[in-house]
Amino acid sequence: MTLESPSAFSNQDILNTLIIGAGPAGYTAAIYLARYGRNPLLVTGMQPGGQLTLTTEVENFPGFAEPIQGPWLMDQCRDQAMACGAKIEYDTINAVDFGVRPFQCIGDARTYYAHSIIISTGAATKWLDLDSETFYRGHGVSSCATCDGRFFKDKDVAIVGGGNTAAEEAIFLSQHAKTVTLIHRRDALRADKVLQQRLFDIPKVRLLWNHKVVRVLGTTQEHNPALPGKVTGIVVENTLSQEQTSLPMDGLFVAIGHSPNTDIFKQALPTDSDGYLLSTPGSSATSIPGVFVAGDVQDHVYRQAVTAAGQGCMAAMDAERFLQIQPQHHTQDMVQ
Ligand code: NDP
Repeated sequence: MTLESPSAFSNQDILNTLIIGAGPAGYTAAIYLARYGRNPLLVTGMQPGGQLTLTTEVENFPGFAEPIQGPWLMDQCRDQAMACGAKIEYDTINAVDFGVRPFQCIGDARTYYAHSIIISTGAATKWLDLDSETFYRGHGVSSCATCDGRFFKDKDVAIVGGGNTAAEEAIFLSQHAKTVTLIHRRDALRADKVLQQRLFDIPKVRLLWNHKVVRVLGTTQEHNPALPGKVTGIVVENTLSQEQTSLPMDGLFVAIGHSPNTDIFKQALPTDSDGYLLSTPGSSATSIPGVFVAGDVQDHVYRQAVTAAGQGCMAAMDAERFLQIQPQHHTQDMVQ
């Protein structure tokens, strides 16, 4: 994989903005930039739609009185971006060079040149890596209590993890579920003390220390046993004695952290200690003028579809302002 010299392309090949990543942030940026007449190109990556394609019903995206399906919402965002004039390319960027102008991004299919870049590659949930966990994802196994907690009203649920996310999600789940069992592999949480205290004060939350989940139990569909039915329990293992126990459970939430999808940018842009890209507070700008970030790739606090969409809008507006002060803005309409 080699980056081409800047003289190897003509102006006709240079995009105003290349958007990398097809979640709510990327699609919203595409919608805005298309409406600015900037003919943006969005490269989807390997999981078009991002984390929302892993969820089922979405109730917390404003504008829909009835629950909608996560994958459907992403299809709508894609279609809306295309209807506004954005181009979508099903390709994966493997390397970037932000040290040259125009910027260069190498995909599986081809190299892209752009005056500005919006990075919206999202973050990937960390999972326990159990086959049974994968099988029941979206059918009782979830990584987002805020998204799916309401579907477990008066049910017994377990949550794995010991950080702020697990503590916050356990507290949130306790507002809906009958019981919440927080399972942690050690005997102390790393969550903030104030959150821990709130958690310990909730009678329906039970703490299971020094345990890990080793299996998810459940049914399969009557007409097709190859498909998941619903979760009925979990098998946990004591990390000190290795003793295994089955616990009846209606749902399992995994909250052991996220990994931002930033590997290809780490050489080019600063990240925090967890690998999230850094931006100027109150803006989507990075340390490189013309490179902007939006969504979960730079946000480990809110991580919601609606906040990612808002950040996509911010990045598009910042990119538009950047393009307006570039000399090449006189030739914007030639792209693609
Ligand atoms: P963290 O990395 O803080 O915590 C992950 C937890 O999962 C740890 O307790 C860890 O255990 C456990 N864990 C990791 N891998 C496994 C595994 N394979 N099996 C079982 N358990 C595992 O992630 P969070 O998502 O909680 O938080 C990420 C960042 O976001 C943090 O900086 C956090 O403070 C921040 N955040 C802030 C919030 C706020 O301020 N309101 C809300 C939510 C997050 P162990 O402790 O043993 O390592």
